[in-house]
Amino acid sequence: MKITAIRLTRLKLPLDPPFNASWDPHPRRDFPATLVEVQTDSGLVGFGSGDTMDGFEAYEHLFLGTDPLQILNQVRRIETINFHGGRYWPLEAALWDIIGQVAGLPVSILFGGARDRLLAYASCGELKSPADRAESALAAKDRGFRAMKIRIARDRIEEGIAAVRAARNAVGDDFDLMVDLNQMWRMSGDIDAALPLARVQRIAAELSDLGVLWLEEPLPQADVVGAQRVRAQTGIQIAGGEMVRTIAELSALIEADAFDIYQPDVALSVGMYRARQVAESANLRHRMFTPHTWSNGLGLLANLHVAAGVDAGPYLEFPYDPPGWTPERRDFFLEPLDIDSTGHLLVPTAPGLGANIDHAAVKRYTV
Ligand SMILES: [Mg+2]
Repeated sequence: MKITAIRLTRLKLPLDPPFNASWDPHPRRDFPATLVEVQTDSGLVGFGSGDTMDGFEAYEHLFLGTDPLQILNQVRRIETINFHGGRYWPLEAALWDIIGQVAGLPVSILFGGARDRLLAYASCGELKSPADRAESALAAKDRGFRAMKIRIARDRIEEGIAAVRAARNAVGDDFDLMVDLNQMWRMSGDIDAALPLARVQRIAAELSDLGVLWLEEPLPQADVVGAQRVRAQTGIQIAGGEMVRTIAELSALIEADAFDIYQPDVALSVGMYRARQVAESANLRHRMFTPHTWSNGLGLLANLHVAAGVDAGPYLEFPYDPPGWTPERRDFFLEPLDIDSTGHLLVPTAPGLGANIDHAAVKRYTV
């Protein structure tokens, strides 16, 4: 089989009502999405999304005429580009979509087939007042979620901890709360200092007292010793690694026992094939893997297939913070993914990734 064309369609997310990623001191004002469509000489077509794919056109010729089924070679090809420029993992997702269709199986089966559904956690994207966050946590619990992750802005720590406390008081103890400090995360141009270790240790101690299940990215990526100290001092579980750029760096973090939970996003970090390697390495050491999924519905779907295949857990991230961030907005160019009444996200059973692309929406939102 040969790849005959790679079509990129750049889309603009509908932003009414507005979504304010105000946990980040340098928030993004737009949320571009790019749909990748891989066409083959067999007539099979695969779709992927997640990264913007900016600059990919210069490398497209490296893939045309190659075999989509030789997936390791395709992964290596994408890595050689990653070394110089962008991370084009949505292309890998589109290739797995084709491989699944050839096999007649959902991609999750090709990754291990451990589960056909995963518990999802509501992952918040906006800063809300303690009262509003408590209300949203209760609403999420009523909707079937069993867990929620709250972001705390590094320049509004006290307000953030108050929001976690209010949420805990509202939902009680039979609902998991996680917190993301996003200190491994940087928007381009953000050169502000990270919070110092001593401050993070105090924050972690307070969050541990509130029964927080994990603290995500408490420190910059290089501060592995700091992450280990926070964990040893407070007993809180540490999560991280969502945007780590290479499998070598992730392997080194696992070797150093940096975290309890490893979170490379298959659409943004090291791709799907390599994420399975991360999951297996982490699991062998009695550590967890559950990917970051914050891109769009097709990115979430690629993560769901890998996560279900490799038995990720304890929850899969489900970006959800209404009214600003809903399944309809997140998945604006496909049939939205949603949890069932027990808080599970079901893996589609159709061959490939099983996305139902809304071609009218693609047309409507093409830039
Ligand atoms: Mg995060």
